[in-house]
Amino acid sequence: MNSDREDLVNHLKTRGITDQAVLDAVGKVERQLFVPDVIKHHAYKDVALPIGHGQTISQPYTVAFMTQALRVKKDSKILEIGTGSGYQAAILHSMGAKVFSIERFYEIYTKTQKLFDDLGIRVALRCGDGTIGWEEFAPYDGIIVTAGGPNIPDKLRNQLAVGGVMVIPVGDRRSQTINILTKVDEDNFEIIEVPDFAFVPLIGRDGWKEV
Ligand code: SAM
Repeated sequence: MNSDREDLVNHLKTRGITDQAVLDAVGKVERQLFVPDVIKHHAYKDVALPIGHGQTISQPYTVAFMTQALRVKKDSKILEIGTGSGYQAAILHSMGAKVFSIERFYEIYTKTQKLFDDLGIRVALRCGDGTIGWEEFAPYDGIIVTAGGPNIPDKLRNQLAVGGVMVIPVGDRRSQTINILTKVDEDNFEIIEVPDFAFVPLIGRDGWKEV
């Protein structure tokens, strides 16, 4: 593991990340490949960074926290809403998950698709509104939403498998609580809430409306 990534992994341990598979993935995936050239020297700082179009690559701690909460296993089928740079999807892919990811910005979607093609990362990408999910491949063992919305979209609840976990930030436009939902049966969810995160807005039919 390169020393920048090793330092980042050690930092994440001090912040309470304990899942070794998550730490191994952070140690393996080269975050500098997912950030714009001019800010590559910041790639291993524990901060969100701009990726264009007013969007960001999430802070490494947030990525690690959400991934740990998802309880990913090898071959888990995971739906991500908000592909962005592709870093979160690459972390899930390196953990052996089958990843499906949706991005609403066409320019971001095409750029990340090209990066995955260049790196040989096999993730199914789609351009569209992720608040309605991706019915064709449902149900998912895990759903991770990397933008913050006003509520939990019903379609995403429905597309989660019984026993599956959804990790989704919910709140106002400034600050969100990460909701960790476990689907107990078709109608019931156990929910753990972890406050004080800040994500870019989830824009869509069952998210914020663009104004
Ligand atoms: N997972 C990303 C990464 O690793 O870089 C984080 C990207 S950023 C925090 C969130 C992304 O969600 C943005 O690229 C934004 O365009 C996208 N987004 C917002 N609303 C969306 C929606 N309804 N469907 C799909 N993508 C959406």
